[in-house]
Parts: sequence; structure tokens; C-alpha cells
Amino acid sequence: MNDYFKDFPNNEGFYGEYGGSFIPPVLQTEMEKITDAYFSISKSHEFISELRSIRKHFQGRPTPTYYCKNLSNRCGGRIYLKREDLNHTGAHKLNHCMGEGLLAKYLGKKKLIAETGAGQHGVALATAAAYFGLECEIHMGEVDIAKEHPNVVKMKILGAKVIPVSRGLKTLKEAVDSAFEAYLEDPINSIYCIGSVVGPHPFPMMVRDFQHVVGIEAREQFLDMTGELPDTVTACVGGGSNAMGMFSGFLQDENVRLVGVEPTGRSLKIGDHAASLSYGSKGVMHGFRTYLLQDEEGNPQPVYSIASGLDYPGSGPEHCMLKDEGKVEYTTANDEDCLNAFYTLSRVEGIIPALESAHAVSYAMKYAAENPRKSILVNLSGRGDKDIDFVIDNYGIREI
Ligand SMILES: *Cc1c(COP(=O)(O)O)cnc(C)c1O
Repeated sequence: MNDYFKDFPNNEGFYGEYGGSFIPPVLQTEMEKITDAYFSISKSHEFISELRSIRKHFQGRPTPTYYCKNLSNRCGGRIYLKREDLNHTGAHKLNHCMGEGLLAKYLGKKKLIAETGAGQHGVALATAAAYFGLECEIHMGEVDIAKEHPNVVKMKILGAKVIPVSRGLKTLKEAVDSAFEAYLEDPINSIYCIGSVVGPHPFPMMVRDFQHVVGIEAREQFLDMTGELPDTVTACVGGGSNAMGMFSGFLQDENVRLVGVEPTGRSLKIGDHAASLSYGSKGVMHGFRTYLLQDEEGNPQPVYSIASGLDYPGSGPEHCMLKDEGKVEYTTANDEDCLNAFYTLSRVEGIIPALESAHAVSYAMKYAAENPRKSILVNLSGRGDKDIDFVIDNYGIREI
């Protein structure tokens, strides 16, 4: 296992043929500086103990692992949840944002810069910036700003500056370009903080390492509770950070099946889903090589999911490699599966899941029904408070 983390990524940031760093030379120089700093600082005793203390006292880690007695009775099998919804700010994203913020502090940076789509990453990063006393600048498309009002307000309350992006389609892709440009204007005093295990090296590695705590905790807790390992471990995959954090705790366990769940949205037509590992082809986007939903010119296709945190046209490079190797299986859940799991978990367990996480819950419910003697551990990546108005306005209250 130690060899796995040593070998992947390699020195150029590749996981097999995926990942790497396809960026302009000025940016490459900055990425190399961040990589070097990460390797020296993140291994220091001081950094490790400070991050540990933050996780315990500020984030509320370890989050529990919970046996869903009612849901298991209803579906069959044994379903367990890793409760990342109980992490401070209500999702797993704070795990890597606090790591990135701490690294920024050690590097003497003054400002954190990032883009955000639905605003979840922006809120988590604004939280980290407030904690570390750093400035925070979040680039967000004007279309998204109009759609995601509560998150925009939260970022502002936390002291972040929200920069509206008015070019192109005014959504995530343009926000990424705008944030990179802002970062390049002042790379000495600022640092770019990505929101998932994507982008050029070293981000997929750093974000995985900061999310690794989820898998380590869950494995130990599951063993403590049951005396054995789960038969299957599952997580939803957008960019892939919550899944990578969870899976990385179990990669050395030959008998544990790992399953990533991608969103098939409304249909399999172009623009109706975001299942890039299941239906994409190899290509380069946002500075790294990945399985991409792309048109004939290699441009990313429009994507959609009921869960805005999952609508990304690529996936983390490590997932691409693990898929090719057969080490992780990738399956799908659509909007209807997601809604059904959203309402079922809410009604029978009293836990309202994020729509993203509900994709993984949906798979677990199917698996449990088909495998009554087996156990499945789900990474419940976040809570659904952010989604309730959207669900009620668009789908209404549903019976289960
Ligand atoms: C952002 C988000 C996701 C998707 O991101 P990954 O990098 O694929 O984990 C999943 N769940 C929640 C709750 C999120 O906020």
C-alpha cells in the first residue's frame, strides 16, 4: 500500500496515462513550487499535528460510521453510512479546504483564490479562509450567482469576495478561467485552491491526501463495529474527491469491492447527464488528462445532473486509472433513483442526504436488496439542507 501512494502519481503527476499537467509554462513554474512546498511541509510533524487538531476541534472529526437499521430492514442486507454530512459545514469538502488553507498559511500566502459552480466549494473555502485569517476571492459565473443565492450570501457573511464572471456561458468553465487569471496576476501572495481531485498536478494528489482521513476513519470504525471489513464500499463521483478519500482507505483490501456512482441525470443524451467515466472518452481538460464527455473537437460537452455538485464533464485522473485496472467499478444512478433515495433515507432514518450523496445511497439500496447477506458502506458526502427548496419547488413531496 505504501508503494501505491509512492507510485501514484509519478513525479510528473500521472496515474497511468491520466492526470499530468497540461498548462502554460508560467503556470507550470508555480505548480512545481506548490508541489515542492507540499512535499516538504505536509510531511512535517508541526503541519500534521496542527491539521489533526483542526480536524478534531474545529471540524468535529472523527465523523461517525452509522448502521442504518431501518433502511437495512426495508431493503435487505446491511447498509452503513460514513457520516461526512456531520463534518462542519455539512460536507466532506472542508477536509481538503482546511488542508489547502493550512498549506497556504505555512507558505506565507495572504489570499485564497478559487472558482465555484453551485457554491459548495466556495463556502468551504471561505470557511477555511476565515479560520486562518486569509483573504478569499471566489469566482462564480453570473448564471450560478443568480441560481445559488444562499451560498453566495454565506460566502459574503464569511468574509469572502465573490467575483461575478460575465463572459461566455457565465457558468463554471468561465469561472475556472477567471480564477486562474486572477491567480496568475499575483502568484507570490495568493494560492489557487481547487475543489476536487481534478486539475493539473499536484491538485489531484493533494486533495486525495487531505480526503484520505475519511477512508482511514471509516475502515477502523467499521472493523470496530463489526469485526470485519465491508463487502462493498460506495461513493458518488463528480470530480471524485469524496470517493477517492473513501476508496483510498480500502485499496489494499483485496476482498472489498469498490463502486463509484456517476449521475445519468435525465437521459443518456448529450447534455442530459454527467457520467464521464461510464460514457466519456480520453481527452484533456482543465490541465489534466481524463475520461471526458467531449464533442468532435475535444471540447467538453454540456453536462447536467439533479445534483449540481456532480455535473462535471471529466473525473479525477486516479479514478480513470482505477477504472482501467478494474480495481474500482463504476456504475450510474439517474435523477429518479436519486430522488427516491433522498426521500427514503429522510423518512426511514431521519437523515436528509445531499442530492449528490443520494446517488450512492440509491446504489446501496439496490445492492442490499440483491445481496441480503452482505454489507455495504456508503460515503454520505453531505447533508441535504442546501437542496430542500430545490427539491420541493421542482418535485414536491413524494411518498416512498
Ligand atoms: C461537491 C460535492 C460532491 C461532488 O464532489 P466530489 O469531488 O466528486 O466528491 C459530492 N457530494 C457533496 C455533498 C458535495 O458537496
